[in-house]
Amino acid sequence: MANKSNMKDAMVADDRRHVLGISGGKDSAALAIYLKDRYPEIHSRVEYFFTDTGAELEEVYEFLDKMEAYLGKEIIRLSSGRDFSHWLKLHNDYLPSARQRWCTRTMKIKPFEDFVGEDPVISYVGIRADEFREGYVSSKENITAIFPFIEDGLVRDDIFQILEDSVGIPEYYQWRSRSGCYFCFFQRQDEWLGLKRYHPELFEKAKEIEKTSGNGYTWVQGKTLDEVVARAEEREKEEGVISKSSSINEQKWQEVLRYQQDDDDPEDQACLICSL
Ligand code: SF4
Repeated sequence: MANKSNMKDAMVADDRRHVLGISGGKDSAALAIYLKDRYPEIHSRVEYFFTDTGAELEEVYEFLDKMEAYLGKEIIRLSSGRDFSHWLKLHNDYLPSARQRWCTRTMKIKPFEDFVGEDPVISYVGIRADEFREGYVSSKENITAIFPFIEDGLVRDDIFQILEDSVGIPEYYQWRSRSGCYFCFFQRQDEWLGLKRYHPELFEKAKEIEKTSGNGYTWVQGKTLDEVVARAEEREKEEGVISKSSSINEQKWQEVLRYQQDDDDPEDQACLICSL
Protein backbone atom coordinates (compact mmCIF):
# COMPACT_ATOMS: atom_id res chain seq x y z
CA MET A 1 0.00 0.00 0.00
CA ALA A 2 1.37 3.37 -0.96
CA ASN A 3 1.85 6.23 1.47
CA LYS A 4 -0.82 8.87 1.09
CA SER A 5 -0.87 12.57 1.78
CA ASN A 6 -2.66 15.76 0.74
CA MET A 7 -2.24 18.98 -1.22
CA LYS A 8 -1.38 20.99 1.85
CA ASP A 9 1.59 18.73 2.42
CA ALA A 10 2.51 18.95 -1.27
CA MET A 11 2.77 22.73 -1.01
CA VAL A 12 5.51 22.53 1.58
CA ALA A 13 8.68 23.74 -0.05
CA ASP A 14 11.26 21.01 0.43
CA ASP A 15 13.48 18.76 -1.64
CA ARG A 16 10.94 16.14 -2.57
CA ARG A 17 10.41 15.46 -6.25
CA HIS A 18 6.91 15.82 -7.66
CA VAL A 19 5.85 13.46 -10.46
CA LEU A 20 2.70 12.88 -12.48
CA GLY A 21 2.35 9.96 -14.87
CA ILE A 22 0.40 10.82 -18.00
CA SER A 23 -1.01 7.61 -19.42
CA GLY A 24 -2.57 9.09 -22.53
CA GLY A 25 -5.97 8.68 -20.88
CA LYS A 26 -8.42 11.41 -19.95
CA ASP A 27 -8.07 11.57 -16.16
CA SER A 28 -4.30 11.91 -15.85
CA ALA A 29 -4.35 14.48 -18.66
CA ALA A 30 -7.06 16.47 -16.91
CA LEU A 31 -5.10 16.32 -13.67
CA ALA A 32 -1.98 17.79 -15.28
CA ILE A 33 -4.07 20.61 -16.75
CA TYR A 34 -5.80 21.13 -13.42
CA LEU A 35 -2.48 21.46 -11.61
CA LYS A 36 -1.20 23.92 -14.17
CA ASP A 37 -4.28 26.11 -13.95
CA ARG A 38 -5.09 25.78 -10.23
CA TYR A 39 -1.77 25.07 -8.58
CA PRO A 40 0.85 26.76 -10.75
CA GLU A 41 3.48 26.59 -8.03
CA ILE A 42 3.11 22.81 -7.95
CA HIS A 43 2.94 22.56 -11.74
CA SER A 44 6.29 24.34 -11.98
CA ARG A 45 7.85 21.58 -9.86
CA VAL A 46 6.16 18.56 -11.39
CA GLU A 47 8.04 16.17 -13.64
CA TYR A 48 5.45 14.88 -16.10
CA PHE A 49 6.22 11.49 -17.57
CA PHE A 50 4.77 8.95 -19.95
CA THR A 51 5.79 5.30 -19.90
CA ASP A 52 5.93 4.10 -23.46
CA THR A 53 5.42 0.40 -24.11
CA GLY A 54 6.12 0.89 -27.81
CA ALA A 55 2.65 -0.49 -28.50
CA GLU A 56 0.63 2.69 -28.07
CA LEU A 57 -1.68 4.12 -30.69
CA GLU A 58 -0.37 7.00 -32.80
CA GLU A 59 -3.28 9.10 -31.46
CA VAL A 60 -1.68 8.87 -28.01
CA TYR A 61 1.55 10.43 -29.26
CA GLU A 62 -0.41 13.18 -30.99
CA PHE A 63 -2.28 13.82 -27.76
CA LEU A 64 0.98 13.96 -25.79
CA ASP A 65 2.28 16.62 -28.20
CA LYS A 66 -0.84 18.68 -27.56
CA MET A 67 -0.42 18.24 -23.83
CA GLU A 68 3.19 19.37 -23.94
CA ALA A 69 2.18 22.48 -25.84
CA TYR A 70 -0.56 23.27 -23.32
CA LEU A 71 1.52 22.51 -20.25
CA GLY A 72 4.53 24.35 -21.60
CA LYS A 73 6.66 21.53 -20.24
CA GLU A 74 8.25 18.38 -21.54
CA ILE A 75 6.55 15.07 -20.84
CA ILE A 76 9.51 12.81 -20.12
CA ARG A 77 9.31 9.52 -22.03
CA LEU A 78 10.21 6.42 -20.05
CA SER A 79 10.49 2.90 -21.37
CA SER A 80 11.56 -0.57 -20.41
CA GLY A 81 14.30 -0.33 -23.03
CA ARG A 82 13.03 -3.33 -24.99
CA ASP A 83 9.94 -3.94 -27.07
CA PHE A 84 6.98 -6.18 -26.33
CA SER A 85 8.26 -9.09 -28.42
CA HIS A 86 11.42 -9.20 -26.31
CA TRP A 87 9.44 -9.42 -23.07
CA LEU A 88 7.05 -11.92 -24.58
CA LYS A 89 9.94 -14.25 -25.40
CA LEU A 90 11.30 -13.79 -21.91
CA HIS A 91 7.94 -14.89 -20.55
CA ASN A 92 8.07 -18.09 -22.57
CA ASP A 93 5.62 -16.75 -25.12
CA TYR A 94 2.79 -16.52 -22.63
CA LEU A 95 0.54 -13.64 -23.55
CA PRO A 96 -0.09 -11.27 -20.66
CA SER A 97 -3.58 -11.47 -19.21
CA ALA A 98 -5.62 -10.05 -16.36
CA ARG A 99 -4.19 -12.82 -14.18
CA GLN A 100 -0.64 -12.71 -15.49
CA ARG A 101 -0.11 -9.02 -15.92
CA TRP A 102 3.62 -9.17 -16.48
CA CYS A 103 3.29 -6.45 -19.13
CA THR A 104 2.26 -3.81 -16.59
CA ARG A 105 4.96 -4.85 -14.17
CA THR A 106 7.72 -4.93 -16.74
CA MET A 107 6.78 -2.20 -19.17
CA LYS A 108 5.08 0.33 -16.89
CA ILE A 109 5.83 -0.10 -13.19
CA LYS A 110 9.52 -0.98 -13.34
CA PRO A 111 10.47 2.00 -15.57
CA PHE A 112 8.48 4.27 -13.23
CA GLU A 113 10.26 2.93 -10.16
CA ASP A 114 13.64 3.24 -11.87
CA PHE A 115 12.82 6.83 -12.80
CA VAL A 116 11.96 7.65 -9.21
CA GLY A 117 14.88 5.74 -7.70
CA GLU A 118 15.27 6.26 -3.97
CA ASP A 119 14.37 9.94 -3.99
CA PRO A 120 11.50 11.06 -1.78
CA VAL A 121 8.71 11.64 -4.26
CA ILE A 122 5.16 12.95 -4.34
CA SER A 123 3.13 11.23 -7.04
CA TYR A 124 -0.12 12.84 -8.20
CA VAL A 125 -2.89 10.43 -9.15
CA GLY A 126 -5.99 11.35 -11.17
CA ILE A 127 -8.59 9.20 -9.42
CA ARG A 128 -11.79 11.20 -9.13
CA ALA A 129 -14.10 11.93 -6.22
CA ASP A 130 -16.86 9.81 -7.82
CA GLU A 131 -14.74 6.68 -8.17
CA PHE A 132 -14.11 3.83 -5.82
CA ARG A 133 -10.76 2.63 -6.91
CA GLU A 134 -7.32 2.62 -5.45
CA GLY A 135 -5.01 2.88 -8.41
CA TYR A 136 -1.51 1.59 -8.42
CA VAL A 137 1.07 4.03 -7.27
CA SER A 138 3.88 2.05 -5.71
CA SER A 139 4.51 0.27 -2.50
CA LYS A 140 7.94 1.87 -2.37
CA GLU A 141 8.38 3.71 0.89
CA ASN A 142 9.81 6.82 -0.72
CA ILE A 143 6.69 7.43 -2.85
CA THR A 144 3.75 9.34 -1.41
CA ALA A 145 0.51 9.49 -3.39
CA ILE A 146 -1.74 12.53 -3.53
CA PHE A 147 -5.23 12.57 -5.06
CA PRO A 148 -6.13 16.19 -5.88
CA PHE A 149 -9.45 15.39 -7.61
CA ILE A 150 -10.66 13.47 -4.58
CA GLU A 151 -9.54 16.21 -2.22
CA ASP A 152 -11.13 18.95 -4.28
CA GLY A 153 -14.27 16.94 -5.08
CA LEU A 154 -13.93 16.76 -8.87
CA VAL A 155 -16.15 14.24 -10.66
CA ARG A 156 -16.38 12.81 -14.17
CA ASP A 157 -18.17 15.78 -15.66
CA ASP A 158 -15.51 18.16 -14.33
CA ILE A 159 -12.84 16.12 -16.07
CA PHE A 160 -14.62 16.43 -19.40
CA GLN A 161 -15.04 20.15 -18.86
CA ILE A 162 -11.33 20.60 -18.12
CA LEU A 163 -10.41 18.76 -21.31
CA GLU A 164 -12.97 20.51 -23.49
CA ASP A 165 -11.68 23.85 -22.27
CA SER A 166 -8.08 22.96 -23.08
CA VAL A 167 -6.69 20.17 -25.26
CA GLY A 168 -9.90 18.30 -26.12
CA ILE A 169 -10.66 14.65 -25.53
CA PRO A 170 -8.19 12.20 -27.09
CA GLU A 171 -9.50 11.07 -30.49
CA TYR A 172 -9.37 7.36 -29.78
CA TYR A 173 -12.13 7.73 -27.19
CA GLN A 174 -14.49 7.64 -30.17
CA TRP A 175 -14.08 3.88 -30.24
CA ARG A 176 -12.01 2.91 -27.22
CA SER A 177 -12.48 3.50 -23.52
CA ARG A 178 -8.86 3.46 -22.44
CA SER A 179 -5.32 4.30 -23.41
CA GLY A 180 -2.59 1.68 -23.36
CA CYS A 181 -1.32 -1.00 -25.71
CA TYR A 182 -3.27 -1.63 -28.90
CA PHE A 183 -3.50 -5.31 -27.97
CA CYS A 184 -4.56 -4.73 -24.38
CA PHE A 185 -6.53 -7.73 -23.14
CA PHE A 186 -8.76 -5.43 -21.11
CA GLN A 187 -10.47 -4.30 -24.30
CA ARG A 188 -14.13 -5.07 -24.78
CA GLN A 189 -15.39 -6.87 -27.85
CA ASP A 190 -16.53 -3.68 -29.54
CA GLU A 191 -13.15 -2.08 -28.87
CA TRP A 192 -11.41 -4.90 -30.71
CA LEU A 193 -13.82 -4.19 -33.54
CA GLY A 194 -12.88 -0.51 -33.27
CA LEU A 195 -9.21 -1.47 -33.53
CA LYS A 196 -9.94 -3.44 -36.68
CA ARG A 197 -11.79 -0.50 -38.21
CA TYR A 198 -9.49 2.33 -37.16
CA HIS A 199 -6.15 0.52 -37.21
CA PRO A 200 -6.50 -2.59 -39.37
CA GLU A 201 -2.72 -3.07 -39.50
CA LEU A 202 -2.50 -3.16 -35.69
CA PHE A 203 -5.41 -5.56 -35.52
CA GLU A 204 -3.55 -7.84 -37.92
CA LYS A 205 -0.43 -7.54 -35.77
CA ALA A 206 -2.39 -8.51 -32.65
CA LYS A 207 -3.75 -11.51 -34.56
CA GLU A 208 -0.28 -12.47 -35.66
CA ILE A 209 1.01 -12.37 -32.07
CA GLU A 210 -1.92 -14.51 -31.02
CA LYS A 211 -1.22 -17.04 -33.75
CA THR A 212 2.53 -17.31 -33.39
CA SER A 213 2.79 -16.94 -29.60
CA GLY A 214 0.60 -17.58 -26.65
CA ASN A 215 1.05 -21.34 -26.30
CA GLY A 216 -2.50 -21.81 -27.47
CA TYR A 217 -3.88 -18.98 -25.34
CA THR A 218 -5.65 -16.08 -26.96
CA TRP A 219 -6.01 -12.36 -26.07
CA VAL A 220 -9.62 -12.99 -25.10
CA GLN A 221 -10.11 -16.18 -23.17
CA GLY A 222 -11.49 -18.99 -25.29
CA LYS A 223 -11.88 -16.99 -28.51
CA THR A 224 -9.62 -15.94 -31.34
CA LEU A 225 -9.63 -12.27 -32.30
CA ASP A 226 -11.49 -13.11 -35.51
CA GLU A 227 -14.21 -14.74 -33.42
CA VAL A 228 -14.33 -11.80 -31.02
CA VAL A 229 -14.76 -9.32 -33.83
CA ALA A 230 -17.30 -11.50 -35.66
CA ARG A 231 -19.35 -11.61 -32.46
CA ALA A 232 -19.11 -7.83 -32.00
CA GLU A 233 -20.31 -7.32 -35.57
CA GLU A 234 -23.22 -9.67 -34.99
CA ARG A 235 -24.18 -7.81 -31.84
CA GLU A 236 -24.10 -4.57 -33.74
CA LYS A 237 -26.56 -5.97 -36.25
CA GLU A 238 -28.80 -8.07 -34.00
CA GLU A 239 -29.27 -5.78 -31.06
CA GLY A 240 -28.72 -2.52 -32.83
CA VAL A 241 -25.87 -1.97 -30.40
CA ILE A 242 -24.41 1.30 -31.49
CA SER A 243 -20.71 0.96 -31.13
CA LYS A 244 -18.80 4.08 -30.23
CA SER A 245 -17.24 4.06 -33.67
CA SER A 246 -20.58 4.65 -35.36
CA SER A 247 -22.45 6.65 -32.78
CA ILE A 248 -21.28 10.03 -33.92
CA ASN A 249 -23.93 10.75 -36.51
CA GLU A 250 -26.57 12.58 -34.55
CA GLN A 251 -24.64 13.77 -31.56
CA LYS A 252 -21.04 14.76 -31.24
CA TRP A 253 -19.09 11.73 -29.98
CA GLN A 254 -17.66 13.85 -27.17
CA GLU A 255 -21.20 14.49 -25.91
CA VAL A 256 -22.14 10.82 -26.09
CA LEU A 257 -19.03 9.86 -24.18
CA ARG A 258 -19.40 12.49 -21.52
CA TYR A 259 -22.65 11.02 -20.28
CA GLN A 260 -21.65 7.39 -20.58
CA GLN A 261 -20.55 5.68 -17.43
CA ASP A 262 -19.33 2.34 -18.66
CA ASP A 263 -15.72 3.16 -19.33
CA ASP A 264 -14.79 3.50 -15.68
CA ASP A 265 -14.67 -0.15 -14.91
CA PRO A 266 -13.57 -0.85 -11.34
CA GLU A 267 -12.30 -4.24 -12.57
CA ASP A 268 -9.42 -2.37 -14.17
CA GLN A 269 -7.90 -1.34 -10.88
CA ALA A 270 -4.43 -2.62 -11.40
CA CYS A 271 -4.32 -1.23 -14.90
CA LEU A 272 -4.73 2.38 -13.86
CA ILE A 273 -1.08 3.06 -14.44
CA CYS A 274 -1.76 2.23 -18.11
CA SER A 275 -5.05 3.95 -18.63
CA LEU A 276 -6.00 6.48 -15.99
S1 SF4 B 1 -2.17 -1.39 -21.50
FE1 SF4 B 1 -2.85 -3.50 -21.15
S2 SF4 B 1 -1.37 -4.73 -22.35
FE2 SF4 B 1 -0.45 -2.70 -22.08
S3 SF4 B 1 0.80 -2.85 -20.25
FE3 SF4 B 1 -1.22 -2.11 -19.59
S4 SF4 B 1 -2.38 -3.97 -19.05
FE4 SF4 B 1 -0.61 -4.60 -20.25
